[in-house]
Amino acid sequence: MIKAVLIEKTEAGHHAALTELADDALPEGDVTVAVSYSTLNYKDALAITGKGPVVRQFPMVPGIDFAGFVETSRHPDFKAGDSVVLNGWGVGESHWGGLAQKARVNGDWLIPLQAPFTAAQAMAIGTAGYTAMLCVLALERQGVTADQGEILVTGAAGGVGSVAVAVLAKLGYRVVASTGRAAEAPYLRSLGASEIIDRATLSAPGKPLARERWAGAIDTVGSHTLANVCAALRYGATVAACGLAQGMDLPLTVAPFILRGVTLAGVDSVYRPIAQRREAWARLARDLDIDKLAAITGTIPLSEVVPAASRMLAGQVRGRLVVDVNA
Ligand code: NAP
Repeated sequence: MIKAVLIEKTEAGHHAALTELADDALPEGDVTVAVSYSTLNYKDALAITGKGPVVRQFPMVPGIDFAGFVETSRHPDFKAGDSVVLNGWGVGESHWGGLAQKARVNGDWLIPLQAPFTAAQAMAIGTAGYTAMLCVLALERQGVTADQGEILVTGAAGGVGSVAVAVLAKLGYRVVASTGRAAEAPYLRSLGASEIIDRATLSAPGKPLARERWAGAIDTVGSHTLANVCAALRYGATVAACGLAQGMDLPLTVAPFILRGVTLAGVDSVYRPIAQRREAWARLARDLDIDKLAAITGTIPLSEVVPAASRMLAGQVRGRLVVDVNA
C-alpha cells in the first residue's frame, strides 16, 4: 500500500484527502518511481481545492512534480536506482501525480536529477523554480541584460517569484520585487531584491501607456498587473509572463507593442521539450544560490498538503513548500 493525496468528485462535491492505495492502482506507464519529495505548486493548490479547472479526470492523485528513484523501468533511458525528476506533462492533471509515495509514468517525461542537487533541493526548486528559470532564459533570449536597468518581479514572495528574485540578483540584475506582503520585505531583500513595491500600485486598471521604467519583467500574476507592466516597459523591453495569481484576463491595449516595440513572452513549463528542461536545470545549478534556496523553502508531510493548498491560494505561503511524502 502507498500513501497518497486523492481528489474525488462525487455527487457530494469535490473532495481531497490523504488515503492509502494499492500499488496496482497506479496508472499505466513504463517507469515506476519511488517518490522521495514532491511539492505544492499554485496549480496543485487549484487542483486540491477545486478552485480551478486543473484536474481532467477523477479520481486524481495531484502533484505536478516529484523527485525520487526508479523502482522498475521498461524505458531504455532509465534503470532501477536512477535518481529522476518530473515537471509537468499533465501529471497531476490528467495522469496521477507526485503527491504520493509512488508514481508510474511515461519515461519520456523524466529527466535525470541535476547535479549537484539532492532530491529535496530539486523539489525546493520544483516546477515553480524551473519556471522562474525559463522566464529568465526568455528575457535573455530577448536580449535583456543587467546593464539595461531595473527588472520587475511580480508575486515576488511566492514560489516562482522568490526563485526569480534570487536568480536575477545573482546574475547581477537590479531587481524590484512587487509584493502584497510588506512584512516579507526583509525576506525579499535577503534574496537580493534592491527595492520592494506594493503590488496594489500595479493591480488596479491603469493607462494604456505609463512612464517607461522596466528594462524587463517576470510576471506571475496576469490580469491588470501584467497590463500595467506592459504599459511601463521601456522601449524594446520584454516581460516574461507565466502566471495568473491575480486573474486569467489581460485587459490591455496594443499601445505598448506598436509604440514602444515591447515583447510579451509567454512561458509554459508543462510541455517544454526535454532539451530546454535540461538547459533550465543546468542554469539553476549554476545561477541559484543553495543558501538562498534553503531560505525560500519550507517542508511539510503529505498529511498537511490539503490545508496548505488553501493557505497557498489565500496568498499565505512564502516561497516554496516541499512535501516529504514519506514523513
Ligand atoms: P504562489 O507561491 O502561490 O505565488 C503566487 C504569488 O502571487 C503570491 O505569493 C502573491 O505574491 C501573488 N498573488 C496572489 N494573489 C494575488 C492577487 N490577487 N493579486 C496580485 N498578486 C497576487 O504560486 P507559484 O507556484 O509561485 O505560481 C505563481 C503563478 O505562476 C501561478 O499563477 C501559477 O499557476 C503560475 N505558474 C505557471 C507555470 C507555467 O508553466 N506557465 C508554471 C508554474 C507556475 P505576494 O504575496 O508577493 O504579493
